[in-house]
Amino acid sequence: MVINDQRRLVILLSLHDLSGVGTKAEVLDNIQNRHYWNLARRERAMKTNRREPVWRNDFAYIRKKLVSEGSIGNSTRNRWTLTNNGINHLLRLCREASEPKASKLTENANRRIRAILANSQSQPPSHLGGDVVDGGARGLRKSIQANLKEIMAVSRKRKPQLVDDVDDVELVRTAAPRDEAFRIHIQKLYKGACALCGLSLRSPDGQPESQAAHIYPKSRHGSDDLRNGLCLCRLHHWAFDVGWISVRDDLTVIVHRGLPADGKYEQIRRLRGRRLAEPQDPEMRPHPIFLRAHRRMHRFERKRRIARAGT
Ligand SMILES: [Zn+2]
Repeated sequence: MVINDQRRLVILLSLHDLSGVGTKAEVLDNIQNRHYWNLARRERAMKTNRREPVWRNDFAYIRKKLVSEGSIGNSTRNRWTLTNNGINHLLRLCREASEPKASKLTENANRRIRAILANSQSQPPSHLGGDVVDGGARGLRKSIQANLKEIMAVSRKRKPQLVDDVDDVELVRTAAPRDEAFRIHIQKLYKGACALCGLSLRSPDGQPESQAAHIYPKSRHGSDDLRNGLCLCRLHHWAFDVGWISVRDDLTVIVHRGLPADGKYEQIRRLRGRRLAEPQDPEMRPHPIFLRAHRRMHRFERKRRIARAGT
């Protein structure tokens, strides 16, 4: 697959994640956050005379092509929208990419492609993005609203479930509005501040730097129950996800004993023994079921032995 077709595919894939509509920044950030593209060093470099990395500039150029090919609409300024033609284009590229493997596509991208192909066999292409693609931004907002309610209802149940009861295809179809709803709730519960270090930076347009993390990860179908969520700065989100740190049931932080002793890791090491900030609604504090699963996953704790009688 020629490289520009791989770029086309990743742009359309990202738009599909966003339920068919997004700004340039949203589409490109999504490609970056989901690691869809194997970035060469050359692509990471800043483009001279533009204030953005080379790869973003390359992708913006391909987006213009997609507009002229009718796969992306440009009726609204700074809104990239996936057209029906674009959905068919995406499907075609997904089939082409599945073999032989396209070199710039990461495993994350390939996983997504397989899910989309599986989904397209069970539904006609025009339903790929649900009603959201056709409804544009309004549909997306409605979908986020529905997810906000649903997530809150699930989180109010007495006993949380470790994993969400949705299959892969459904997960792909509803991922974008659901992720967004989860993020909105978590940001609000923690006022946008990292629960570990308290950092609460914002971008020039007021967007929080912090992220909504799943304690038991989404990659393992971890639940969108808000008691499985934490607001974390990027550094601590990473450290938590890779298992340098975990959290006890009493919300104190434990640090992996293999953490390198040098100063580079100081921002992680100094969290040892610290207590997590609690969310505004105490009912939504991290639930032991998720914390335990995280500790086990990263081998801070073994599976509990069967309790002996009398203990
Ligand atoms: Zn932090």
